[in-house]
Amino acid sequence: MATIIPLTDIRATANPDARRAALDAFVRDAALAPSAPAGPIADTRGRRLHDLRISVTDRCNFRCVYCMPRDVFDADYHFLPHAELLTFEEITRVARIFVDQGVAKIRLTGGEPLLRRNVERLVEMLARIGDIDLTLTTNGALLAKKARSLADAGLTRVTVSLDSLDDATFRAMNDADFPVAKVLEGIDAAAAAGLAPIKINMVVKRGMNETSIVPIARHFKGTGHIVRFIEFMDVGATNGWRMDDVVPAAEVVRTIAAEFPLVTADANYEGEVAQRWRYRDGSGEIGVIASVTQAFCRDCTRARLSTDGKLYTCLFASDGYDLRTLVRGGFDDSQIGNAIQAIWRQRGDRYSEIRTANTARVPKVEMSYIGG
Ligand code: SAM
Repeated sequence: MATIIPLTDIRATANPDARRAALDAFVRDAALAPSAPAGPIADTRGRRLHDLRISVTDRCNFRCVYCMPRDVFDADYHFLPHAELLTFEEITRVARIFVDQGVAKIRLTGGEPLLRRNVERLVEMLARIGDIDLTLTTNGALLAKKARSLADAGLTRVTVSLDSLDDATFRAMNDADFPVAKVLEGIDAAAAAGLAPIKINMVVKRGMNETSIVPIARHFKGTGHIVRFIEFMDVGATNGWRMDDVVPAAEVVRTIAAEFPLVTADANYEGEVAQRWRYRDGSGEIGVIASVTQAFCRDCTRARLSTDGKLYTCLFASDGYDLRTLVRGGFDDSQIGNAIQAIWRQRGDRYSEIRTANTARVPKVEMSYIGG
């Protein structure tokens, strides 16, 4: 009979090697346990498994100050070697097993997903799973070149990150001297390729780009694209997060509403991360993602698969569950499904609800690795 180690016991194990060994034992034992039927599953807080985010590379061509600061992610930084990455076949296999467990939405991310060579081939393979919403989040740098081939491969929609329309501010935030105009070209190409509705993600950081809030809203108002203003989060351990740098979503809404009156809109579906607001004049909508000031752990239905095949059940986790060992170790699909079920069923994390200045200092995996 397999021994299932409760997560609380694992977390209480301070020694990282012992913790890793306990997590690996948990995954292996869960895989070998008698099979449970595939299908929708819920965690200890009743949250369903609905979304899967897959990081296809931990590398990025930007060095956004709030995500991959250049002084940490420099020439000496050890990115994952290619052999550590899940192959397209492995990703597709794992994704199909997640879909059997109830996942209906898959987002490719990273790092910068368009840097993964032939990512269109992966999109094509995932699209063949059928009946899933297949999307991708990108910084837009390579989108003008790739939008058409991504759409042809079966991508449904795209989200583009864009923190300012002011070229100097944008270049300072991406810290790669990348011009706004090229990202706007990418957004136009995505629209032309039918990857709509396009979402535009703007991370708002106090003192850096608050003055860009209204110009971005104005620019995309009436285009059908949906700008989502994201609170600066304490992801990873390198971005020097301070609560003082967070511009609360309520302030963003007030700022925009002073210029363009807004009315609230209902969520499109349970667990939607953005709170929706419509322009009163009917010219579109915006969203705010208040992950710091109004945590939404209660509705979180997202699992994350890291570039090297670890399953994380929270963006703010320190450890993941190694599925790659199962994939490369001869375990069959139902055994991998068993492990996913066991991991999800005992999930109880709610980091954002219990965040304090102290928890912000707890070691956490980087967003570029786990997938934003
Ligand atoms: N490279 C792609 C991109 O730029 O969209 C995908 C990966 S990126 C990590 C995914 C999203 O996470 C982006 O919209 C980015 O702005 C957001 N992000 C990264 N660090 C963040 C932070 N500290 N707080 C809030 N959002 C963050």
